Amino acid sequence: MTVLPVKRRLTLWLSLIRTRLTLWLMVILAVGMLAFVLTTLLAAQTILRNLNEERLRQSVTSLSDALAQEPEANVSLVRNQLDAFSTPDIYLQYQSPQGTPIASSKNMGRLILPLSQIQSAIATDRVAAITFENSPFLLYGRSVLVRGQVRGYVIAARLTSDSEEQILLFRLMYTGVFVTLILTALLVWLLVRQMLRPLERLADSASRITIASDHALRLQAGERPDEINRLAQTINGTLNSLEDAYQQVQNVNELQRRFLADVSHELRTPLTIMLSSLELMKKEQGSDPEFQANALENIQIEAERMARLVTRLLMLARTDASAPFAREPLLIADVIREAYHQDCPANRNIRMECHGLEALEDAVVSGNADYLKQVLLIILENACKYTPDGGKVTILGEMRADHLAITIADTGIGIDQTEVPRIFERFYRAPNARDLPGMGLGLSIARGIIEQHNGTISVESTPGRGSRFIIALPLLNAEHATFTHTLG
Ligand code: ADP
Repeated sequence: MTVLPVKRRLTLWLSLIRTRLTLWLMVILAVGMLAFVLTTLLAAQTILRNLNEERLRQSVTSLSDALAQEPEANVSLVRNQLDAFSTPDIYLQYQSPQGTPIASSKNMGRLILPLSQIQSAIATDRVAAITFENSPFLLYGRSVLVRGQVRGYVIAARLTSDSEEQILLFRLMYTGVFVTLILTALLVWLLVRQMLRPLERLADSASRITIASDHALRLQAGERPDEINRLAQTINGTLNSLEDAYQQVQNVNELQRRFLADVSHELRTPLTIMLSSLELMKKEQGSDPEFQANALENIQIEAERMARLVTRLLMLARTDASAPFAREPLLIADVIREAYHQDCPANRNIRMECHGLEALEDAVVSGNADYLKQVLLIILENACKYTPDGGKVTILGEMRADHLAITIADTGIGIDQTEVPRIFERFYRAPNARDLPGMGLGLSIARGIIEQHNGTISVESTPGRGSRFIIALPLLNAEHATFTHTLG
């Protein structure tokens, strides 16, 4: 993945978001504004029409009342009254009951209002909307009654087409909406760009991390507690966890690599000894029986060592598997005795002692004798291995309140306090032990087995003076009680 495609893709992605956001905002705004303008115009038109109707009614009513009170008024007097009640946009006409104009307001010219077409509206006192002379009009008429007789009709008319001011207002509104939309679009675009800038920076540093493949790099999160910074902090948190997981995988890989090297080494040493013993035996051709016996003895020791190693590897695989091994009631003193008899290797000058077995003589635990013996052998083998010649290894059995304790103490190299929590980890070996052979498997196997017996294993140690490994196991009759004893 090169710098360019990643960056280009991010830039494209961000400009797509920008355009989409702007378009969506604009669509919403345009719909909102149009709805507002249309409703306003509709409301304005209705109000105007009602107003105009009212004015027509008022003019006609006042005029017809005035004419009814002066039935003998001459034409010029009537015309004066019509002029008095008309306005530039309201035409007034007084017609005979047959529809012949008697007098008209000055602004009418020669126009004759169609009385016949509004007769029904007059009867029901409505304002009629009628088109005549090719123009739309609002017409309102009323009879002039003198002593119960219709003397004539007063008719008022008004053009309903929009006035110039109205048209101007509509034009202004539409232009205003259009200009506002354009300006808002520009503003929204700039605003969205400004808002997306931190996201752009975030995407930029994310792409730099991808390109550099550097797991230690982090996104630049600002101080402000906004969404983007919170997002950056969350991503950084995820990156931290990912790095931890990656580090753990790396550690496991390293441990496994070392484990393979150690296993090969551990297997090669006895194999080399066995092969060279066989080679020498072949050369000797049975001439020296004592040599033969020694060589066979060596081969047996090495074969047993290999067998032990393979057993341990198998055991590790089994303690890893979730299926628990078979357990039965057993006398723990017998198991300790068997392990004690294995002793330290013959070529080592180490004294081994065992005390307190009589206290455990009747102690019964629910367990697997083979596995428990392996645990004791692992710890005893370590005690011998990490104790210089002339040292001492002691096994001590004790009965405590609801459990028994087996302590294996040595006078060896000891373990640094900082290393103690780690020695039960698989493949881990303390620095002071690395010159001696070993794979760092024994204690993790031992702990796995003891935990499956509902017991605990702990260690106390002083570097240069020795270590004490303490195994605590619940007694069979107390196993179902809570096992909370703390060793020390
Ligand atoms: P190994 O002995 O094969 O290295 P273990 O799992 O048995 O592996 O032991 C893990 C580590 O614990 C050893 O490498 C050593 O550092 C430390 N350790 C165990 N037993 C003793 C002991 N008796 N004295 C000092 N260090 C010990």
